[in-house]
Amino acid sequence: MNFNAIPPENPYEGCRATFDAADIVIIGAGYDGTASYRPGSRFAPAAIRAETFYSQEDYSPYFQRDLSEKAIHDAGDLDLPPDNKAAVLRMIYNASKGLLEHSKKPCFIGGEHLITFPAFEAALEMNPDVRLLQIDAHLDLIDELFGEKYSHGTVMRRCFELMGEQQNRLYQVAIRSGSKEEFAFAEAHTRLFPFHTRDFINATDELRDFPIYLTVDLDVLDPSLLPGTGTPEAGGIFFPELIEFFKALDGLNIIGADLVELSPRIDPTNNSTITASKTLRELLMIL
Ligand code: MN
Ligand code: MN
Repeated sequence: MNFNAIPPENPYEGCRATFDAADIVIIGAGYDGTASYRPGSRFAPAAIRAETFYSQEDYSPYFQRDLSEKAIHDAGDLDLPPDNKAAVLRMIYNASKGLLEHSKKPCFIGGEHLITFPAFEAALEMNPDVRLLQIDAHLDLIDELFGEKYSHGTVMRRCFELMGEQQNRLYQVAIRSGSKEEFAFAEAHTRLFPFHTRDFINATDELRDFPIYLTVDLDVLDPSLLPGTGTPEAGGIFFPELIEFFKALDGLNIIGADLVELSPRIDPTNNSTITASKTLRELLMIL
């Protein structure tokens, strides 16, 4: 299939399957056009790939699995026009739909959180029963942000609407930020597990019979660990808790995923990128 993707100079380390042989396909979707505070997530896919080359093992001691044991292909980055949001959404949708039609699991590297909307839209069309699982500092349930219906702050509201406004199909985990109205909306319509992951982990049986699309907003991590993000929020979880979250999902039917909101140039130590690339490795282990 044709993605309009630019192949990577160096693929994500350990992901060496051909497209035809792959079960999982990584695609960069570096769009940051609606970032409300600090843009720069467009640079995340290339930064993450470069980091794995120098500093990362293919082996996960947490899952005792190696990336080489999984059939993963890195397709490179979508060639997204930075000032044409409609075209960006269409290209991400087409990539997600195409992969799912070829029975492959898309794994997008954002980019900002809006990229989840078209990726999830395709997943929902292919799997009408799908549940959306979001781990994030923010609810992202605003109806309109700066007059925009489609933005990284409204993305979960739009996804909720896509699912026919059905209750309890959107799971929101470790949330610690949102307006009073957004929290009231979440209380009424979503499965909200604020501040930490423990209560969600105890409830994962609810998801056992459903396909799941997983979206990981990296700002869920504490900004002392990952300052390189567009909208940092104090009071986040730390890496061991994120691993426990991933472990609780192991064996569930995750049909697609994304990793969003790394803004690598904000953190001159590069630790944010190193943490993001390790997060992606563990995410790949459960796909
Ligand atoms: Mn978000
Ligand atoms: Mn967030």
